[in-house]
Amino acid sequence: MFSVTHTDSPTTVLGVPGRRLRNWGRTQTISPTRAVTPRDTDEVAAVVRAALARNTTVKAIGAGHSFSAIAATDAMLIDTRHLRGLIATDVPRGQVTLGAGTHLYEVPGLIDPLGLAMPNLGDIDRQTLAGAVSTSTHGTGVGFGGLATQVIGATMVTGTGDTLRIGRHDGRLLAAIAPGLGALGVLVDITLQCVPAFDLSAVEEITDFDSAVADFGTRIREVDHHEFY
Ligand SMILES: Cc1cc2nc3c(=O)[nH]c(=O)nc-3n(C[C@H](O)[C@H](O)[C@H](O)COP(=O)(O)OP(=O)(O)OC[C@H]3O[C@@H](n4cnc5c(N)ncnc54)[C@H](O)[C@@H]3O)c2cc1C
Repeated sequence: MFSVTHTDSPTTVLGVPGRRLRNWGRTQTISPTRAVTPRDTDEVAAVVRAALARNTTVKAIGAGHSFSAIAATDAMLIDTRHLRGLIATDVPRGQVTLGAGTHLYEVPGLIDPLGLAMPNLGDIDRQTLAGAVSTSTHGTGVGFGGLATQVIGATMVTGTGDTLRIGRHDGRLLAAIAPGLGALGVLVDITLQCVPAFDLSAVEEITDFDSAVADFGTRIREVDHHEFY
């Protein structure tokens, strides 16, 4: 039986000891009343039901990389660090189901051995899958959608503690959760449509700002992925 952990003792969520937690950019500081680290769907559902019984709210957090207060809560925090890893595969279809708290940097090591890859990624890979999908984290390249477009299924625990399994044919629900802004429930796992594994050839160069802006429209059509900063 899973019991809700009360954070009377220090917690190290986001690497900051104590009850006050900070996001990566140090733009947000939160003081959740409790932090819990469920390990599976049943435990997430138990947390939500416990929160309901106490008339409080829950908020799932990923890697805490959002600059805004979108992951902030002063109520119960669900730390998704244990909802990680490869759960299921359908290699012939190029589909994998991963724990929602899997960090993007972990994904290649899990799916490259299957001959699969995510078609597009953002600028960094520290985010969790659920965090990136929930905020519609984008990558680069005019021919590629953001991370939410790679989602073809998910398991979500709703605000009533019920478990919703969303498949590729549940188009409206898929559109609602990817991106769902963390507002519709707790994602436990996410199924991605992958592509065959591929190598990238990267070219990095220094140019002046005016050229980078002037040539942008041309450059994005010449390569798969283009970015400047
Ligand atoms: C250095 C840096 C570079 C970045 N580069 C890019 C980029 O190239 N492209 C881009 O688009 N964005 C970029 N971002 C933004 C980043 O991708 C998003 O803020 C992303 O949401 C962070 O993921 P996270 O795991 O930290 O989620 P968090 O910030 O922890 O949470 C984000 C949202 O997801 C929700 N959430 C998290 N886990 C769950 C779950 N299991 N169930 C339901 N909801 C959940 C939270 O409640 C919250 O609403 C960058 C951010 C940084 C700091």
